[in-house]
Amino acid sequence: MSCFTGDGRDRTEHCSAGGYRMASIKVAEAAPWDFIGECRRHGLKVTPQRMAIYSALKGCVEHPSADFVYRQVKKEFPGISFETVNRTLLTFAAIGLISVVESTSGVRRFDPDMKSHHHLHCIRCGRIIDIRDEGFDTIDVPGQLSEMYRIVGKRVVLHMICPDCLTPESSLPETVQG
Ligand SMILES: [Zn+2]
Ligand SMILES: [Zn+2]
Repeated sequence: MSCFTGDGRDRTEHCSAGGYRMASIKVAEAAPWDFIGECRRHGLKVTPQRMAIYSALKGCVEHPSADFVYRQVKKEFPGISFETVNRTLLTFAAIGLISVVESTSGVRRFDPDMKSHHHLHCIRCGRIIDIRDEGFDTIDVPGQLSEMYRIVGKRVVLHMICPDCLTPESSLPETVQG
């Protein structure tokens, strides 16, 4: 069923969500980000390995895990270790270059798109697809919550079953009419 295993690694090979397009909801495109400038601003040395790690992440629209990025980068830098890749991704997240996103599989997932957007999350395969929608952007945070907590971000996460996972036997029951 799930592509994910409990050891912090995932076996997801697919990385394409370009086919998902809905009438009024835009599938988000990753925003351009000044990688070199941001690294320098935070005193982080720009190395070819770090650039490759960032490029691998940017090149995948499905919010990959460290393991996915590792397997991509390893093709270019066979000597690189999983630990280095994982640590680098966490460093990127710590300086605000990327973000760690919600995941139900227990495996940490990364998002290179730092512009406000929302997520479609497949509960079967763990695929996370970016969406942009003005309606979601303008949802108000209840006043009571704003008083209790300092709200620093807002994201709508829709849980769904993606077309690839929606086989006839796995389809949801029909809504009862009337
Ligand atoms: Zn799926
Ligand atoms: Zn995202």
